[in-house]
Amino acid sequence: MNIERFAAIVGTGHARTDAKTCEYFSRDIFFWDDAAGVAAVISPADAGQVAAVLAEAVSQGLPVAVRGGGMSYTGGYVATQPATVLVDLGRLNAVRELNREDQYLTVEAGATWESVSAALAGTGLQTAIKDRTRVACPPLAVRCLKVSSMR
Ligand SMILES: Cc1cc2nc3c(=O)[nH]c(=O)nc-3n(C[C@H](O)[C@H](O)[C@H](O)COP(=O)(O)OP(=O)(O)OC[C@H]3O[C@@H](n4cnc5c(N)ncnc54)[C@H](O)[C@@H]3O)c2cc1C
Repeated sequence: MNIERFAAIVGTGHARTDAKTCEYFSRDIFFWDDAAGVAAVISPADAGQVAAVLAEAVSQGLPVAVRGGGMSYTGGYVATQPATVLVDLGRLNAVRELNREDQYLTVEAGATWESVSAALAGTGLQTAIKDRTRVACPPLAVRCLKVSSMR
């Protein structure tokens, strides 16, 4: 794996291969002791970087897994192949639009309920789920932006 080419896209601190980071991002909240483990964690800052990271992974022939908030327990992003690159969407956490009239939010794919709650503070609006967690937002009254071809 040429990690420098990923770092050139997302910045050095956002293309990580250290054991602690890879271990953390190799599991969801279940156990998965037999998981292959990821070889790198790449954290793009916007949709353009997501597309560039995916193109780079393809050009290097590397498998890819995508993680939102990491709060699932079904192994959806747990690597099954060695040298998997994990694309961490945690930096795509902006709330893009709050439409008060039609009562919806448009958020980026890594936005959390915590960031949604912060955006709604003082507006008199709330989501059905008020708990502040790190779980990224599924589409209730919240519409997630499409990120490249992933959704
Ligand atoms: C205590 C607890 C209670 C829960 N209760 C419920 C519940 O009541 N109802 C319910 O539905 N779920 C529930 N869940 C499950 C969890 O909240 C959902 O799975 C949640 O949607 C996970 O979001 P996440 O961003 O953490 O996803 P992740 O765990 O990061 O990813 C989940 C899957 O989605 C994929 N993925 C993530 N982002 C993208 C993207 N942008 N593009 C393409 N693929 C993507 C991943 O590859 C993975 O396969 C609960 C979980 C916990 C811990």
